[in-house]
Amino acid sequence: MCPTAAPSPTPPPLPKPFLARMATLLAGAFPAFLASYDQPATAGLRVNSLKLSPAQWAAISPFGQTSLPGLPEGFLLVEDETRPGKHPYFAAGLYYLQDPSAMMVTALLDPRPGEIILDLAAAPGGKATHIAARLQNQGLLVANEIHPQRVWALAQNLERWGATNVAITHETPERLAGRWPGFFDKVLVDAPCSGEGMFRKLPAARAEWSPEIAAGCALRQHAILQAAAPLVRPGGVLIYATCTFNPAENEGVLARFLAAVPGFALEAVEARPGFAPGRPDWVTPDAALPALSQAVRLWPHEGPGEGHFIACLRRQPGPPAPRPGAATRPFPRPAGTLWADFCRTSLTTPPDSGRVTQVGGYLYELPPDLPDWQGLRVIRPGRWLGELKKQRFEPAHALALSLTATQARRVLNFPAGEAAVRAYLRGEALPIPAGGDDGWTLVTVDGFPLGWGKRVDHLLKNHYPKGLRQP
Ligand code: SAM
Repeated sequence: MCPTAAPSPTPPPLPKPFLARMATLLAGAFPAFLASYDQPATAGLRVNSLKLSPAQWAAISPFGQTSLPGLPEGFLLVEDETRPGKHPYFAAGLYYLQDPSAMMVTALLDPRPGEIILDLAAAPGGKATHIAARLQNQGLLVANEIHPQRVWALAQNLERWGATNVAITHETPERLAGRWPGFFDKVLVDAPCSGEGMFRKLPAARAEWSPEIAAGCALRQHAILQAAAPLVRPGGVLIYATCTFNPAENEGVLARFLAAVPGFALEAVEARPGFAPGRPDWVTPDAALPALSQAVRLWPHEGPGEGHFIACLRRQPGPPAPRPGAATRPFPRPAGTLWADFCRTSLTTPPDSGRVTQVGGYLYELPPDLPDWQGLRVIRPGRWLGELKKQRFEPAHALALSLTATQARRVLNFPAGEAAVRAYLRGEALPIPAGGDDGWTLVTVDGFPLGWGKRVDHLLKNHYPKGLRQP
């Protein structure tokens, strides 16, 4: 399962076999572990450093918050009446709400601008948005999701985030490995797991757990990790992460992987507050694989977040794999003219025309490092620019969210507290002051894009996507 279950009013009890196992494993630390379930989960907020710096965020944040030690873009929210998921700044993609422990996964992946990174199990996009922010629009992120519904949640979250160098695929790990072997500097496997680490934050997950499900997860994790290995370039990094305490899904999967796949070794990670070592003794009684202690366990009784497990595997250096060919696609003339007209009339700094391509009725700007994807299911091959509709061009919401206010010719700005912002997010047309010309207009909140409107006379026709509108 994946930790998406909604919180239930009367939490189901913690499963007895789970408690019995944790009592045996943790021994003297078990009472503190158990007591953590009486504390509320700490909500975390991660700033979108593509749009503003942590210091800029701290200056405008309407929420009670403190800094997260060891992660400049991370904050811990103080529990109060505010609803950060409903604020216009959320709609503008200024932050992502994420468990503080989950933020540490990308901290250890340590994406650097220019790197080529695959997030193999990416929905709903917590780690993918974090990776995109760290890449700073340089290099490439391929965010993949196998699940046919969850991939659209991933697309929505990434669109709000506004990165320009992200492709979204909907594939099995095996098919990606067959097409792009050895292509990625770094691969993240944030594996589907039994979710024991989320029992506090999402109590409904307790009812979905069973020892059989956990055992099945371990088998699936091993298969995913094995399929992921060939995607990593020689000398590259493979991060394995779960949100479960279960040793069979953590140290056990790693021990099996290291025995089955030659050429990978566990690597020690930088010590951070709240990091506890992996436990080889919990899966191999004779501690035959002491390197497993280099993995990291995050415990709810020792840090601000929920239960997580993270391990860093490095592939041994070797000759690079042949690079897949670059992506090229035709760009028919009528679309070219419509797009060029839009750029001329509505943008001050248009996207790189050499990378604009048409797929069906949609236009995209391909990231420079995107390889040819023919034969793979690609949901978004790059920044979604817009759609061709009956001989006219309609800009995509994703394009609006990837711009800065200075990149649009027409901007209508509102302070966050103004009623017009809520009206826009509800999908209402807005009266617009006299002066200025008609056409596509970027609606912003305190200078941050929220979406498009189309000005006709003194009215702004609302183009905020219907599926995102807030009642
Ligand atoms: N990385 C995500 C984030 O930070 O928001 C969370 C990922 S969730 C823990 C695991 C994901 O793995 C789910 O979206 C699930 O659909 C996907 N998954 C399930 N089975 C899979 C498989 N066989 N191969 C790859 N991904 C799989």
